[in-house]
Amino acid sequence: MRAEHVRGVAGVKPPQTAVAIGTLATTASQEPRNQELGVRLVFPFIFVVFAFLCGYCCFLEMMANKAVFLDRDGVINRPVIVEGKPFPPRTVTEFEILPGVNQACSDLKNAGFLLVVVTNQPDVGRGILKKEVVEAIHKTMMGYLPIDRVEVCYHAGAEFGEECECRKPKPGMLINAAAALDIDLSHSFMVGDRWRDIDCGKRAGCKTALIDWGYSEELREKPDFRGANLTEAAHWILRNSDR
Ligand SMILES: [Mg+2]
Ligand SMILES: [Zn+2]
Repeated sequence: MRAEHVRGVAGVKPPQTAVAIGTLATTASQEPRNQELGVRLVFPFIFVVFAFLCGYCCFLEMMANKAVFLDRDGVINRPVIVEGKPFPPRTVTEFEILPGVNQACSDLKNAGFLLVVVTNQPDVGRGILKKEVVEAIHKTMMGYLPIDRVEVCYHAGAEFGEECECRKPKPGMLINAAAALDIDLSHSFMVGDRWRDIDCGKRAGCKTALIDWGYSEELREKPDFRGANLTEAAHWILRNSDR
């Protein structure tokens, strides 16, 4: 019994020990191999994730729209000049679209740009001009030109106690339109005839073009282009669009 027991124990134990040693041996030899495999897989994995993210960003960028933001008075219509400074038309009949504007707008549209008019009309907030007149002018403008959207700031301005986030040079109107129309501001342009337009375009991250009427006012920021009219600005935009 004793011998059997001893044998039996002895007969059982060796295989158990062998298995145990075998398990330890397997684990010990696989760990470095697994680590090595892990290290070898980490870099391709990071590369694939990085490539996917780059591709996705490019895709989103390609899908976003590009736009030309157009100031209204002095870019689309002839400004009413008083003592060297431009003023908006007071009636629909005073609203005169400048020569070449229709063609320039069509050329920009054909090149894939959205056209967004962004205009300060503080005379409404100051009680000098009726909002209905401005709206009637815009209805007329939309009837002649392929404009996608009009953003208007009617606020009087900080100097009249009515500060807002939309009055140029603040970029609020461009940011609003960009959100509404999925516009990539970094591939977009702002065209205006005053310092407020240029500063606004710069703040929004757009390239800027000045229609230079020789007004008696200083610029603050330097525009990327200066031209005599929207035709010249549109040609420059078409030459400088990177998409
Ligand atoms: Mg203007
Ligand atoms: Zn405003």
